[in-house]
Amino acid sequence: MKIIVVSGGVLSGLGKGITSSSIGRVLKARGLKVTAMKIDPYLNFDAGTLNPFEHGEVFVLDDGCEADLDLGNYERFLDTNLTCDHVVTTGKVYGSVIDKERTGHFLGKTVQIIPHVTNEIKSMISNVAMKSGADVTIVELGGTVGDIESMPFLEAMRQMRSELGHENFLFVHTTLVPVLGTLQEQKTKPTQHSVKELRSVGIQPDVIVARSEKPLEEGAKRKIALFCDVPLQAVVSAPDAKSIYQVPIFLEEQGLTDYLLQRMALSAKPDGLTEWKKFLGKVMNPKHEVKILLVGKYMNQRDSYMSHYEALTHAGAELDARVKFLRIEAEDLEKPSEKSFLEEADGVLIPGGFGSRGTEGKIDAIRFARENKVPFLGVCLGFQLANIEFARNVLGMSDANSTEFDPHTAHPVVDLLPEQKTVTKKGATMRLGALQIMVEKGSMAEELYGTTEITERHRHRYEINPQYIDRIQEKGLKFTGKSPDGKRMEIAELDDHPFFVGSQFHPEFRSRPRKPSPFHFGLTRAALKFSKERKS
Ligand code: GLN
Repeated sequence: MKIIVVSGGVLSGLGKGITSSSIGRVLKARGLKVTAMKIDPYLNFDAGTLNPFEHGEVFVLDDGCEADLDLGNYERFLDTNLTCDHVVTTGKVYGSVIDKERTGHFLGKTVQIIPHVTNEIKSMISNVAMKSGADVTIVELGGTVGDIESMPFLEAMRQMRSELGHENFLFVHTTLVPVLGTLQEQKTKPTQHSVKELRSVGIQPDVIVARSEKPLEEGAKRKIALFCDVPLQAVVSAPDAKSIYQVPIFLEEQGLTDYLLQRMALSAKPDGLTEWKKFLGKVMNPKHEVKILLVGKYMNQRDSYMSHYEALTHAGAELDARVKFLRIEAEDLEKPSEKSFLEEADGVLIPGGFGSRGTEGKIDAIRFARENKVPFLGVCLGFQLANIEFARNVLGMSDANSTEFDPHTAHPVVDLLPEQKTVTKKGATMRLGALQIMVEKGSMAEELYGTTEITERHRHRYEINPQYIDRIQEKGLKFTGKSPDGKRMEIAELDDHPFFVGSQFHPEFRSRPRKPSPFHFGLTRAALKFSKERKS
């Protein structure tokens, strides 16, 4: 069992997730089997009930786990599908310890943070390392070293390191090197202090990844090596990158992979990042450009729709195009002055969401895309709203709505799933995770997926009301994807439109470099065509 823990110091938001994913990628490129897991020291059981304003999007795994968005980074960088076991929170750890106490598992002992909570943490980590059969397990510790909530986790890891041996358990500490004053000098003191903080809980880092605006200067590297007591080779510069997909290359070029392999006494093949570099080349220097408008609810927080941006980046790379993101708050679209946003777009994407705020603005955007033949993709709520817009403006049901937003509408085109009617708890109770979908032969969906049986991830409580299906289809919005029993509508495509597609599932979650989500690919391809036709 080989484990690499990635911790963070100085402040949050340093990109530990990308660092962890990139370390995973460079090791995988050497032929090793790598997996990754995330520790979130907050008390929530999982990310399912967190507001996207605070933590960015909720990422859904195949098994239905509602996870932190970093799981999405791991899956994209490692090209692997992870499970709920790969997410550990304080809520989960304490929940499990308390369950055991209630069943008499501790046989009269006083239950304490050390050893009971730390043992639980250790067993959750070793469970993933063993079950996955990985040569190396990357464990990202969320939060910042020094936070009260992180303490039991750091203690568990300190113990694990002495139990497993230093060559089997490495610490990578990510810090910030700011530049201050007229001298524009790179300051290493915050790094020194955060390493001191780590040492105060008994952990000496093996590697320091220093985040900075520009590459780390030699002098700053030497200072960090000296004051933090790590070899010069183990101080790695992670300057701001134009694309997150550059980071593995930065790490590889500075010799981090070789250093880690040597420290873990692992033999591996030479650098295998050729494919990754090809993909990166397409991301960095594409021939074309296309503008896709994302209409959402949390637009000043890029992380809220991370998987959509990544899926469009993956799609763009395959089409030799840079996807320029136009972003607008759905509520702003309700004001006539902001409508020009719609005219600028080569394609429109309406992502998933909850609650009524902004839905009317999204419906306006859908109507614009439908009537003006602008390529359109609606995902989950975006799919539901496309049906509502169609019912209102094509079927003439002017108050058509979802019962999520108007429980008394005369035309509940979108309604609660039957099995949701008795659900009262909020956590992990939606229709979640990977489910099979039967795709109609000859449809756009079949062309894009290249098959008639697909599996995609879900996260919803509402669905297209079966009572409206025939009326919607008669007027040209066809359901070309359904659940295997034919009861749940999963994909809709509009006749007589270059690309108007909606899906109840979330294709963005399974998108990967070199394997873009078929629907994001379809949208980008149609948007490129639309933009060319518009110019000529
Ligand atoms: N609010 C809608 C539902 O629960 C859509 C959910 C989503 O977009 N993820 O069905």
